[in-house]
Amino acid sequence: MAVFNDGETVHETLHVHPSKLECGECREKIKDQYFLKAIGKYWHEDCLVCDLCQCRLGEVGCHVLVKLGRKLCKRDYLRLFGPTGLCNSCQQPIAAYEMAMKITPQVQYHLECFKCAECEKNFCVGDKFYNLESNIFCETDYIVALSKFGGEH
Ligand SMILES: [Zn+2]
Ligand SMILES: [Zn+2]
Ligand SMILES: [Zn+2]
Ligand SMILES: [Zn+2]
Repeated sequence: MAVFNDGETVHETLHVHPSKLECGECREKIKDQYFLKAIGKYWHEDCLVCDLCQCRLGEVGCHVLVKLGRKLCKRDYLRLFGPTGLCNSCQQPIAAYEMAMKITPQVQYHLECFKCAECEKNFCVGDKFYNLESNIFCETDYIVALSKFGGEH
């Protein structure tokens, strides 16, 4: 799944001499015989935790997801960066952290996609917009579009 491109699987590493390694979290030297490698760093088993909910990620095969320099468990990652739905205009997923214009719970737009289909003017909060044939229009273009559609019937 494309969503997990930011992640990396946890590996158990025993090949490098541990005392030379620094833990990616607590910066202490790793003296344990068992430690973990993930996202290009080494970790004490107890130090590899989700930055948000502190749940342990330190299990081999577990998926650590990294975004904006934070390591996250799958649940938090999806909550923050997972898609909430598709943009009604460009049909691309809208991530949970992105600003979106919600028309109804099902119909939403990226903020930059929320513009008049004709003159491409971006709507501001409080602007009137009109829905026609799954396009959105400003008032001026809506009247024009409406007369076109009206003329065909
Ligand atoms: Zn540590
Ligand atoms: Zn978490
Ligand atoms: Zn869009
Ligand atoms: Zn317009």
